[in-house]
Amino acid sequence: MRQQRGSGIGLYIIVVIFILMLIYMSQRNVAPTYSMEKFKDAVQNDQVTSVSIKQNAEIPTGTVYVTLGGSAQYFFYVADVNTVTEYLSERGMDYVLSDVPKDAWVSQMLPILIVGAVLFILFMLVFNSQGGAAMGGGGGANAKMMNFGRSRAKMTNKDKEPTRFDNVAGLKEEKEELAEVVDFLKDPAKYTKVGARIPKGVLLVGPPGTGKTLLAKAIAGEAGVPFFSISGSDVVEMFVGVGASRVRDLFEEAKKNAPCIVFIDEIDAVARRRGAGLGGSHDEREQTLNQMLVEMDGFGVNEGIIVMAATNRVDILDPAIMRPGRFDRKVFVGRPDVGGREEILNVHSNNKPLAEDVDLKQVAQTTAGFTGADLENLMNEAAILAAKSNREYINATDIKQSFVKVGLGTEKKSKIISDKEKKITAYHESGHAILFHLLPDVGPVYSVSIIPTGMGAAGYTMPLPEKDEMFRTRGEMLQDIEVSLGGRIAEDLIFGEITTGASSDIQKATKAARDMVMKYGMSAEMGPINYNNDDEDVFLGRDLAHARGYGERVAGEIDAEVKKIIDSCYQDAKKILSEHMDILHASAALLLEKEKIGRAEFEALFPESERPVKEGEGVAVEEI
Ligand code: ADP
Ligand code: MG
Ligand code: ZN
Repeated sequence: MRQQRGSGIGLYIIVVIFILMLIYMSQRNVAPTYSMEKFKDAVQNDQVTSVSIKQNAEIPTGTVYVTLGGSAQYFFYVADVNTVTEYLSERGMDYVLSDVPKDAWVSQMLPILIVGAVLFILFMLVFNSQGGAAMGGGGGANAKMMNFGRSRAKMTNKDKEPTRFDNVAGLKEEKEELAEVVDFLKDPAKYTKVGARIPKGVLLVGPPGTGKTLLAKAIAGEAGVPFFSISGSDVVEMFVGVGASRVRDLFEEAKKNAPCIVFIDEIDAVARRRGAGLGGSHDEREQTLNQMLVEMDGFGVNEGIIVMAATNRVDILDPAIMRPGRFDRKVFVGRPDVGGREEILNVHSNNKPLAEDVDLKQVAQTTAGFTGADLENLMNEAAILAAKSNREYINATDIKQSFVKVGLGTEKKSKIISDKEKKITAYHESGHAILFHLLPDVGPVYSVSIIPTGMGAAGYTMPLPEKDEMFRTRGEMLQDIEVSLGGRIAEDLIFGEITTGASSDIQKATKAARDMVMKYGMSAEMGPINYNNDDEDVFLGRDLAHARGYGERVAGEIDAEVKKIIDSCYQDAKKILSEHMDILHASAALLLEKEKIGRAEFEALFPESERPVKEGEGVAVEEI
């Protein structure tokens, strides 16, 4: 889980400094180790070897340092130094009398002053970092201090050069999707007049570093409206109730500044589905989340506030935030493909002189799986290397060296993919995709990609979102199994060798086949019998043989049936793919070139006769 930053650490530092200060002060007031009486005794017994007296400048008080034989040192305070000097003079004893220097008071206090100053600065830093929303109100230390518990939303400085769409490279489709939001923010009245409803909330979903924050800022920049941002992990870190009040203040501020954008980064920290994961105070999180929902429900649709939020885990979000009138639009921000990476590299080498041997296109080709942030980091490291060797331009070697560094530092670690792996993935995904396309009841293919997902998958083939179906036919289930096996079959056909990369495909196919036999009674041999005691699954620890409700013989038959289904699907799918080797090669080549292809590009690989019209498309649309 993420580390919490900001005032959390600030508070700890303050507490630690307080304790140190107390210890320090208590040490300064060390109790005297001696007294006037003991001193007089020692003098009478001739034990004193030397006396030195430090007298304060304006008042008669002072400190007497006494050295006894054996060089033991003691000291004590006296209210009037004269009493000691007179006593010693009477006895004809020597002593050294010195003034404590004039500035002694300052020098004694100096450490305390320094500690105090540091403390003060720390306070200011902590409150400044939260105090953005105070930008309207008076400024100055006090105004900031009052903001404890208020919104720590930050409003971007209007004087600063705003982020524009041009600063966001790649992400073409995402920008198109959000152009409407920009237009709305520019002129909300235009939409209100015709009664159009504009989304209130836009959820940006994608891995870290893919440019979600950048995109949200660019929308504000394009529309020329203020941008308020707050981070989910910052709001949940404090005491119960503080997060909620920050959210309230944030929206208050936003309403005063509408039209504007409110950006909630890391919304999963606040809006985590109840019971998912650990950490953070539940009370606090729920209060904050509730406040957020109340605020979002509270302002009208066309008040000119667009709430944008970013997350990389849409699966753990509380469904409540996805209801209509809240975050009713989702935009996926994925890792960039080759073209996108080249554009991003271009943006981030704008202000960096490149040597002639640098080929950004080639760099883009070798950085599959890198996010925008990784690429920015790459160019920056290269610039640092160039500066280190006193060069004024970046050469290919700099980039090569930082590539290793950045590549190892990214979360994917060893996932710098070799050309061979890339090629295998391209054929594997093409295998899935071709079957999706050719089998009548599955697909159509929406996109095929060989960009690593960062979640362990080397690529993916995505069909159009599933239709709401009441039930699935046996044929559909068999075709699903064939599609799942398609990746492995393609590897086998092309390379004559298979890899471990298909394990989840095989798991999926096996589960489907098992369900067919055990749950849906779709196997003629086994009959329409439910062998799957789902209800019993919850009783863990129960004797499995009992819960199973059938014997060894039946278990063996089930396994044989499952194998039969898988085998026959494998043969079918292999036949189809073998008959379309040319398309398999063409598709893999296209994928290797582009890394990600859309439906139109993929379907263009097939001859006209092999572009089946799938259910719910074409004909049906014309009829309407
Ligand atoms: P996220 O919010 O998705 O985690 P950010 O928007 O904070 O990612 O991106 C971090 C940095 O990476 C940006 O400041 C920018 O320098 C760089 N970056 C990411 N994506 C892009 C992109 N599409 N174009 C240009 N720079 C990008
Ligand atoms: Mg971000
Ligand atoms: Zn696969």
